[in-house]
Amino acid sequence: MDRADEFSIIARYFRPLAAGHDGALGLLDDAALVPGDPARTLVVTVDTLIEGVHFRAGDPPETLAGKLIAVNLSDLAAMAATPVAYLLAISLPSAWNEPALLRWLDDFASGLAREQARFGIHLIGGDTVATPGPLVLTLTAFGHVARGCELRRSRARTGDDVYVSGTIGDGHLGLRVLDGRLGGLTEDDRVYLTTRYRQPEPRVGLGTALAGLAHAAADVSDGLVADLSHICRASGVAARIDAALVPLSPAARRVCAAGRVTLSALITGGDDYELLATAPPAAAAALSRASARAGVALTPIGRIIEAADTEAGAPLVTVLDVGGQPLDVAWGGYRHL
Ligand code: ADP
Ligand code: MG
Repeated sequence: MDRADEFSIIARYFRPLAAGHDGALGLLDDAALVPGDPARTLVVTVDTLIEGVHFRAGDPPETLAGKLIAVNLSDLAAMAATPVAYLLAISLPSAWNEPALLRWLDDFASGLAREQARFGIHLIGGDTVATPGPLVLTLTAFGHVARGCELRRSRARTGDDVYVSGTIGDGHLGLRVLDGRLGGLTEDDRVYLTTRYRQPEPRVGLGTALAGLAHAAADVSDGLVADLSHICRASGVAARIDAALVPLSPAARRVCAAGRVTLSALITGGDDYELLATAPPAAAAALSRASARAGVALTPIGRIIEAADTEAGAPLVTVLDVGGQPLDVAWGGYRHL
């Protein structure tokens, strides 16, 4: 490569990631082709990661690639969609010198290649530009789901059980560790929590297994309580959860037991990328089989109830503490604006 212009960058780093998907047209045409299919619905989502906002300058490019793919596949999983392909728009700081740029691209592309292989997806197009501002990474992911089988936020029903996958709060604690706001952990716990923040695992297999069983689903990115309230608002219902039932990792349990963080911070913290689902009690046995097959825990944490008078200030989500008393949680979740 003579010079790191956009065409040589695309050819060297991105074209290999398109091999195997005919519709990508080798990243040589104006756009990619995604074949239509009458039996399946195309599911599309986009997420942006900005240096200084969603990740720290100097974060390892390989784990950034993993997180960028994970946050998008997590959205597809929450719709019960199987991921197929993605577009990548990348704004590279013009302030980076060429060796730094090429090193960064090398590591970033290897991260993408590794994640692609794990999920059986391909890069099919994108945009490469330079910016006077910080690094910006935008990924658009495509998936498909059998027609009518997608999981929507709006279909939770009164009497449904509320489930959450995996463990909650690890991402939030990982970020605190990286920001220097949580020290004094064992090396194992530090590595576990920071890895959960930097490399969340999208619950793709579990998401597709929830189709036909769950009534509603969402992924937990803003915080458990905020994302459950999104389901409630969309469905015209409310929810009550037991804080003591929320699944915590051994590391999060230790931090909590030492009084270093409150349970309330963990269930409102965000960055979990777990799945929230609501399902009728009759689906319990099938859900536990689906969770075993996917190899991801699915824990019942509460129930969908009739919407209270939210105009009068009743919260959409009530969190009960161990004694059955409502916990006072800031349930708004993370907001950019
Ligand atoms: P145009 O100017 O016609 O929009 P571009 O020069 O932006 O075309 O892109 C040329 C081709 O390279 C297109 O097929 C586009 O999808 C692909 N491409 C550009 N940047 C990326 C990227 N970061 N990742 C994947 N494909 C890319
Ligand atoms: Mg373009």
